Amino acid sequence: MNHVGIGYDVHQLVAGRKLFLGGVEIEHSKGLDGHSDADVLMHAICDAVLGAIGESDIGHFFPNTDPRWKNARSRVFLEEAARQVKFREGHIVNVDATIIAQQPKVAPHVRQMREHIAGALGIQLTRVGIKATTNEALGFIGRGEGIAAMAVASVDLPEVVQQAI
Ligand SMILES: [Zn+2]
Repeated sequence: MNHVGIGYDVHQLVAGRKLFLGGVEIEHSKGLDGHSDADVLMHAICDAVLGAIGESDIGHFFPNTDPRWKNARSRVFLEEAARQVKFREGHIVNVDATIIAQQPKVAPHVRQMREHIAGALGIQLTRVGIKATTNEALGFIGRGEGIAAMAVASVDLPEVVQQAI
């Protein structure tokens, strides 16, 4: 049975933080603020995968009150999402995501992001789509105050007989 999930995330851009997108450190005057490395792209994909298997979101698995995840690399979150799929004897068919950022330019890093994400999820590179767009200078993203990402995931899960409640 094919299941789909959706994920959305946004983080604020602040001075004095490194910018991580899709596991790639990108040179920029600001970085995303958050408890972990605030990799907004990985977080959105994580939620899409968890959503496809009917699980709670990333905050449930990795609470931002837990010191273990302070400055954690978000790759571990994706690895856990993939583990949850495997635990249910399923497999991730594909993920597709869009980064919405006014700056910096994301396109030169897309290939490397796909490699990181495919590696973390244990799937082929061709099953990971990453696109990037600006916000046409509109709103908080357009003013460079934050970066958002949205993602969908398709997960194949074994058909289970629903128990009568
Ligand atoms: Zn996040």
